[in-house]
Amino acid sequence: MFVDAIAGQTLRVAPALDIRQQAYTYAPGEPRHYFAQLQAYQIMPYEAMFTVQTVAPNVSVAAIVSRPGVCVNCATCGEEIMNEREIKNGELTLCCACAQGAYYHVSASAGQALFSHKRLAQQARIQHNLASRD
Ligand SMILES: [Zn+2]
Repeated sequence: MFVDAIAGQTLRVAPALDIRQQAYTYAPGEPRHYFAQLQAYQIMPYEAMFTVQTVAPNVSVAAIVSRPGVCVNCATCGEEIMNEREIKNGELTLCCACAQGAYYHVSASAGQALFSHKRLAQQARIQHNLASRD
């Protein structure tokens, strides 16, 4: 969804329902669907690829954007909550994940792997820089 906040116009852009089938006509001779799409999407006219609708968001743009600098901390996890997305639960101010449950679960091993990978890359750069000075 694209919102022109000044003009007050909102457009919703979505892939055409038959975009995958149409791809074959723009990539004749390519029976493999992935490669047909890869070729076709580079030359297909936008009108064939997307539908564009003028829509009215159910939430006002002002409510989505909020005000600059509005930020509180979640009483449970401590993370910053921006743009007035906090949820009041009695006396508590909570983030959506703590108040309603998150759409994800934390995979500690994946996070540790990412940081250890970054740490290894950082150490390699430091060693490279030290070696370059010699
Ligand atoms: Zn929280």
